[in-house]
Amino acid sequence: MKKVLVLAEARDGQLRNVSFEALAAANILAEGGEIAAAVFGADGGSFADALAQHGADKVYVVNNSALATYTPDGYSQALQQLIKAVSPDAIVLGHTSIGRDLAPRVAARLGYGLVSDVTAIEAGPVFTRPIYAGKAFQKRKFREGCIFITIRPNNIPVGQAEAGKTAEVVPFDVEIKDLRTIVKEIVRKTSGKVDLSEAKVIVSGGRGVKSADGFKPLYELAEVLGAAVGASRGACDADYCDYSMQIGQTGKVVTPDLYIACGISGAIQHLAGMSNSKVIVAINKDPEAPIFQVADYGIVGDLFEVVPLLTEEFKKVLA
Ligand code: FAD
Repeated sequence: MKKVLVLAEARDGQLRNVSFEALAAANILAEGGEIAAAVFGADGGSFADALAQHGADKVYVVNNSALATYTPDGYSQALQQLIKAVSPDAIVLGHTSIGRDLAPRVAARLGYGLVSDVTAIEAGPVFTRPIYAGKAFQKRKFREGCIFITIRPNNIPVGQAEAGKTAEVVPFDVEIKDLRTIVKEIVRKTSGKVDLSEAKVIVSGGRGVKSADGFKPLYELAEVLGAAVGASRGACDADYCDYSMQIGQTGKVVTPDLYIACGISGAIQHLAGMSNSKVIVAINKDPEAPIFQVADYGIVGDLFEVVPLLTEEFKKVLA
């Protein structure tokens, strides 16, 4: 029986879905032991029920004004103090921008192990993670000691919520000092309703959309599907859209249930960010485009004809 600590993440007053996936991962690692969740910043207590219903036995609410927004200094100090008090056998975070930054930093400081970007966990535990930009998978086992795990969003299935389960809420005070950076303002660039990194469906555009206006039919399709809109770096470089939409090796890594690539050639750097999507649909007028090699369904055609047709059909089907 193990004790596992999960760092839950909230944004705009809502828990991110990856927090529930982290609890599902913790459930496998705990082998019937205790699962504790921690929430940094204000309002942590209000998430206790949702965290409990997804498996947390205890919720540590770490409310300190220095933790209102993420800083590597603030969060790493708070997490180290919490780990010292809780003594977990494993710590699970999302492989999000926070998890990617925080987990290796704190693991190195404490001399703990780290398995990052985990996409599956089997009993053992054996961790699966993509390597070589998703071209191969590595299975890793950890021999001894405390480990940090970061899990890739949208891969570990969320367990069934247990209605009525409650967790002990434990306020936890931390001392944060010598912050080298302070976040003064966050200027949000994306206006999309659906968060790209957690989206179940993504409609993505490449240089084939030809202009910023060319993204319009993609947004219309996304609206009907409740999808997020992403892009290749080719489209971002051409100034058709913002870099916050870039998917790939140097952009966001996504694993939606459905990825619709429109006018994207399928360069290896783009595939690194989306090839683990569950179903890939490619629309490209070049039948030789490499994207068709990873696509489950391919449509050879002009995206400006195909995408509006898809939108109309989905409207009918989903009505
Ligand atoms: P193109 O390769 O120009 O492809 C456009 C496609 O649109 C073509 O296949 C064409 O047939 C099709 N098309 C044109 N018109 C239509 C139409 N009307 N209807 C249907 N299809 C049409 N790229 C990323 O995406 N993400 C990254 O993170 C990334 N990181 C990189 C890091 C490094 C270090 C380097 C060197 C490159 C990186 N790249 C990345 C760039 C990558 O190599 C490609 O240049 C880029 O992905 C190409 O974008 P694209 O597919 O939109 O454009």
